[in-house]
Amino acid sequence: MQAPRLRQHPVANKKVLVRCDFNVPLENGTITDDRRITEALHTIEFLRSHGNSVILCSHLGRPKGVSLDCSLAPVAQRLSSLLKTDVHLLADCVGPEIRERCNQLKPGEVVLLENVRFHPEEEKNDPEFAQQLAANAEYFVNDAFGTAHRAHASTAGVADYLPSSAGFLIEKELEFLGRAVESPKHPFVAIMGGSKVKDKIALINNLLPKVDRLIIGGGMSYTFLKAQGKEIGKSLLDETSIEYAGQLLAEHGDKIVLPTDFVVTPDFAPDGPTSIVDADHIPADQMGLDVGPSSRVTFSGIIHTAGTVLWNGPVGVFEMDAFANGTKSIAESLAASSAMTIVGGGDSAAAVEKFGVADKMTHVSTGGGASLEFLEGKILPGIAALGKLGS
Ligand code: AMP
Repeated sequence: MQAPRLRQHPVANKKVLVRCDFNVPLENGTITDDRRITEALHTIEFLRSHGNSVILCSHLGRPKGVSLDCSLAPVAQRLSSLLKTDVHLLADCVGPEIRERCNQLKPGEVVLLENVRFHPEEEKNDPEFAQQLAANAEYFVNDAFGTAHRAHASTAGVADYLPSSAGFLIEKELEFLGRAVESPKHPFVAIMGGSKVKDKIALINNLLPKVDRLIIGGGMSYTFLKAQGKEIGKSLLDETSIEYAGQLLAEHGDKIVLPTDFVVTPDFAPDGPTSIVDADHIPADQMGLDVGPSSRVTFSGIIHTAGTVLWNGPVGVFEMDAFANGTKSIAESLAASSAMTIVGGGDSAAAVEKFGVADKMTHVSTGGGASLEFLEGKILPGIAALGKLGS
């Protein structure tokens, strides 16, 4: 995807509105993972160093109207300590008082607007609301990759009223995710997991012609076994996708690698009895919640010889320790691999964090849904909108 980039258009001495994705996890008002904040620092520091004043905005959570639980106050606090400067949280994101405050900002000063989703107009991409947001600034930078698949006022609409470009985080995401799908080093291996086939059909269709191997694990693998006529017991089945899975196996069976054994248990619970069975012998009263040891060895071997690996979705219920080994083994094999390793956000990003290997990956995407849509080949509205009024 082409978009004007801040790096190529180093705006200076302006008031710059920056859309970030500060939708961070909170527990009792405390940020439990600040990666989305630290990933935004490059753009913010760059703008400050060019004499700009920086007006940050973001959503947090899914508030219905104004809600204290979804205030960006904890983010302002964390930003202040990371940037070593006071980052004031303004009481709202639009209106004459906010505009006036933004107008008075000095070069290098940083403020954070309050949650854009306190206004229902945000998600409706209301033009008047977008215009009001734009009125706070002279230039717009979108750096919210995690929200770039949404056409909202602060991600897309605002670019109708200001010259704009993509920040460094979006640039990084486009570069790594783009390289994986456009010019991967072969062998190119995709690993796909997660619960439902139907959620990944567009991704499979886009990737299958490009990859050398497609490893399928997790809840979605049982639909493929079913399509092969195997018994899957009580394992997850996506009934509506059996035919599609059968077609894929018929047409691309040489590329598709399915698990050959599973960890099974009678109920979806973390502490039930478990056993290891091969893929032809899943008992009728049991469900597979992880891939088994021989599948782990096969998957690791494929990863070991790969030039590029793209991972999207856990291969087991990794949130429960008894069913985490398959996903852990993938994470560790990626960490040990010399391939370009790209982790496509969401649950796989959580898994590499959980197993302590996130920093061993070439790239861990900050966007779950956005990375999925990008890898499916879709246009992301928050990126497509940039540069309409110049950059
Ligand atoms: P998705 O949101 O489709 O990427 O699915 C991610 C979820 O799939 C994770 O929460 C996993 O716990 C779950 N998952 C992975 N393997 C299985 C499985 N064998 N059975 C049920 N759920 C699974």
